[in-house]
Amino acid sequence: MIIDLHSHSTRSDGKESPTEVFERAALAGVNILALTDHDTTSGWDEAATAAQRLGLGFVPGIEVTTRAKVQREGHTRFISVHMLAYLPDPKHAALSSVLGDSVAIRETRARAMVDLLAKDFDITWDLVLEQLTEGATIGRPALADALVALGVVSHRSEAFESILSKHGGYYIPAETADVFDAITLIREAGGVPIIAHPLGGAPDNLDRGDLPQEHFEKLIAGGLAGFEVYHREVPQVAREWLLGLADKHDLIVTGSSDYHGEHGKPNRLGENSTTPEMFERILSLGSGVEAQI
Ligand code: AMP
Ligand code: FE
Ligand code: FE
Ligand code: ZN
Repeated sequence: MIIDLHSHSTRSDGKESPTEVFERAALAGVNILALTDHDTTSGWDEAATAAQRLGLGFVPGIEVTTRAKVQREGHTRFISVHMLAYLPDPKHAALSSVLGDSVAIRETRARAMVDLLAKDFDITWDLVLEQLTEGATIGRPALADALVALGVVSHRSEAFESILSKHGGYYIPAETADVFDAITLIREAGGVPIIAHPLGGAPDNLDRGDLPQEHFEKLIAGGLAGFEVYHREVPQVAREWLLGLADKHDLIVTGSSDYHGEHGKPNRLGENSTTPEMFERILSLGSGVEAQI
């Protein structure tokens, strides 16, 4: 049984429609798939129809863009935290308003990044929009696609490793919802908040002393339900630490691919998966909308 709880479609920064994502999931031998586009539920209906036709299970989800305020070396900093929300009520007014805000903030930020990039490259806002399906949640991947279209880089990952990286000189953070507020709202909407790829991208030689114990304990006290431990970007040291924390607080542990399409990102459907026991816990905790199993 392969349960993959994190994937993206053209409704955000994936390269394939919800239908195609589910068709590919069936080919990859995935049995149950969550569609978790960034800050939108617009792909759910199409995903549900495709899943039913293909005999797959469908879990409605969202990857909510949030940020956490942290103190480091005496300074206030913001770090980006992606919060997966499973089975939230899509009609919950406050949650949908936060998602709408997030989409708008992402657009303002993307436009500002394009203005910076336009000083050095032939990129335009129209070219970026050409890379997107109408109504899709925008992110750096659309900017990467525009740079590929211009021949500046040969693929998305090359853009992320250079020009579009945090230290590439064109990066602007998105001032999205506070992580604690997002957790509260997801819970209010009957959803199950699970941190996506926690400490993702941290170096493999991450020092145990640098693990944000206090911060994570606060998130747990604030209603966090679990961690996506098995994800290709989560370093081994962090995995062991997260498993310990999950054990201590009886939290949910998931594993997922974070698929963005054959040509969107190297992540492959079903490359990580969630156990049926953990999946059952998500189903019993979530009450905003039903999964289609
Ligand atoms: P943003 O949320 O706009 O800062 O962009 C980050 C998003 O880019 C993440 O949600 C990933 O889905 C995507 N991303 C990160 N690294 C890569 C990569 N190497 N190739 C393609 N997409 C990526
Ligand atoms: Fe993404
Ligand atoms: Fe993410
Ligand atoms: Zn994702």
